[in-house]
Amino acid sequence: MTTDTKPQIADTEVVTYEVRGPVAIVTMNRPDYRNAQNSVMTYALDRAFTDAVEDDSVKVIVLAGNGKHFSAGHDIGTPGRDVDVTYENKAALWWDHVRKTGSDQRFAREMEVYLGMCRRWREIPKPTIAMVQGACIAGGLMLSWVCDAIVASEDAFFSDPVVRMGIPGVEYFAHPWVLGPRRAKEILFTGQRFSAEQALEWGMVNRVVPRERLEAETLALADQMSSMPSFGLALTKKAVNQCEDLMGMRSGMDSVFGLHHLAHSHNAEVDKDSLGGMDAKSMKQSAASSNGKV
Ligand code: ZN
Repeated sequence: MTTDTKPQIADTEVVTYEVRGPVAIVTMNRPDYRNAQNSVMTYALDRAFTDAVEDDSVKVIVLAGNGKHFSAGHDIGTPGRDVDVTYENKAALWWDHVRKTGSDQRFAREMEVYLGMCRRWREIPKPTIAMVQGACIAGGLMLSWVCDAIVASEDAFFSDPVVRMGIPGVEYFAHPWVLGPRRAKEILFTGQRFSAEQALEWGMVNRVVPRERLEAETLALADQMSSMPSFGLALTKKAVNQCEDLMGMRSGMDSVFGLHHLAHSHNAEVDKDSLGGMDAKSMKQSAASSNGKV
């Protein structure tokens, strides 16, 4: 974790945007940091998704990660970590976190850049497909889960290891709905990786394809979807999302967000910081010293 109070946020290419026919491809572009999500990236993603929504020629959106990994999660220790920086866009109607302290600050920030943005992206009125290779960890899981479909390559692996920080799962707590309660508990209680094949068997991903076929298969699925009328797709997406919410997802997530912040506050009260003194490196080490692999 850096102690530098002035993060490096010069890079405007943390997300790239490309339109190919009816498909917009939004790509996280911090391959040197396994596409760890700092705030500049979440805001750049939001901008790219907005562009795709407003472009009538775009029917389907693909979310990708440049490099070997889709996303290693939230940025908890790269030189570009920017937790103290304010950005214009507000995903949730809440005050800015930078003027606040303690739980007030954490709640405002996570409501904005994690839960609020993820919820907004889930509501994008066009089909979204996550194209996942390599690591899809914690905050990376959140990004794949907000998409309507997930196409994974055979080398993809998933995990939510934040219980190791004493935190009951990532902010966008879709685990019981996308995995089922028992599998959700297993992957949270152990923090262990699960494979693309396992995710397919559990119904969390739509397809598993060889790494070299990942882009072609994802674009083929996007092309198939793009033959449908836009308004029909938007209404159908809303229909399924509404039903998922009637299964309790939205209200469940709201209640768990409170537990999540109880955990952050407890950590801040009794430990070094709200992450229980953990960063990317120590998370990796403690996972390796347990019998699991992360
Ligand atoms: Zn959090």
